[in-house]
Amino acid sequence: MKKFLVFLEQREGIVKQSSLSAWNRVQELAALDGNSVVAGILAGPVDTGQLDGAMAGDGVIYHAGEDGLGVYNQERYTRVVADTFTREACTDLFFADTVMARDMAPRLSVRIQASLLSGRTTLDGDDGVSRRVYSGSFQASFVPTRQPRIYILSSSAPVPAFPDGGRINFIDIEPQQWTVEDLFPMVRRIIMGEGPPDVAEARIVVAGGRGMGSAEGFALIEQLASLLGGAVGASRTAVDSGWRSHAEQIGQTGKTVAPALYFACGISGAVQHLAGIGSAGVVVAINSDRGAPIFDAADYGLVGDVHIVLPKLIDLVKEFLKKQ
Ligand SMILES: Cc1cc2nc3c(=O)[nH]c(=O)nc-3n(C[C@H](O)[C@H](O)[C@H](O)COP(=O)(O)OP(=O)(O)OC[C@H]3O[C@@H](n4cnc5c(N)ncnc54)[C@H](O)[C@@H]3O)c2cc1C
Repeated sequence: MKKFLVFLEQREGIVKQSSLSAWNRVQELAALDGNSVVAGILAGPVDTGQLDGAMAGDGVIYHAGEDGLGVYNQERYTRVVADTFTREACTDLFFADTVMARDMAPRLSVRIQASLLSGRTTLDGDDGVSRRVYSGSFQASFVPTRQPRIYILSSSAPVPAFPDGGRINFIDIEPQQWTVEDLFPMVRRIIMGEGPPDVAEARIVVAGGRGMGSAEGFALIEQLASLLGGAVGASRTAVDSGWRSHAEQIGQTGKTVAPALYFACGISGAVQHLAGIGSAGVVVAINSDRGAPIFDAADYGLVGDVHIVLPKLIDLVKEFLKKQ
């Protein structure tokens, strides 16, 4: 019998959508396998009521709800996860692909002597994973030979709909005695305010590239994203030009996104950019060059100047929303 443990990441007490997606995908894997159970590990004070109906299948979640785990701390989190993994005799540990996971997983692989398969992997079943390599040009399959195993899953695959939710039991983990606390003091706490969703988690992403012309040109992108309740994304060129922050960069050296709807505005569609949108649902490209490679990856293409097309699109969306 295998026991899968899924790390459920929270920020400000809210469990991340990418973790719920990872949980649900691991439940699918367990259902296929037929000989596995799924458990979760949640660190930090969280109102677990928010998880009602959001999680598929049955399982148990170990909750270390102490205040000292409210904010991510590499050493404390590693210890809580490693202790739970070992104590509960788990066989596989799963993370959604987030900055926190990339920080913690290598440390954990040493702590619990596990093989680590990272880098936006997709589960293949049979213990294997596949991953795009060489800027998305090839799909490579990996099968870890060493047990136990840690997987970092592509974080932004859509969450399957499980309307009835699962039967989840919560087990509280006793607060720990921290002795290394002072080695990792919190220097500054930055609280993200209310605002647009993170580009890696958004259901709709409106992204702009060099074709937007300037930082000011992104006002159109922001306007459309805000009307649609989506997030702003950017190509590396837009980021390197200082028009947008790196947190919004999509692609090989940025974030992987999987929104239901993706707008690429003034983006050529270089392989390094496409590497980040492989899991997007409907792709709409707006580009003045009919031969731009982005049109090969798009479901809908609009040939035209973004400065003409986007204002018209924004007006249409406004009109549509007024009628709702
Ligand atoms: C190792 C490595 C990693 C990389 N990682 C990333 C990454 O993570 N993400 C990423 O995006 N790139 C990445 N790149 C860069 C990538 O190769 C491209 O250079 C970049 O994606 C191009 O950005 P762009 O499409 O905005 O600009 P361009 O390629 O210059 O394209 C601009 C597009 O806008 C169109 N356009 C111009 N004006 C208008 C207008 N007025 N209206 C409509 N369309 C217009 C043009 O026709 C053109 O197609 C990486 C490169 C390397 C080598």
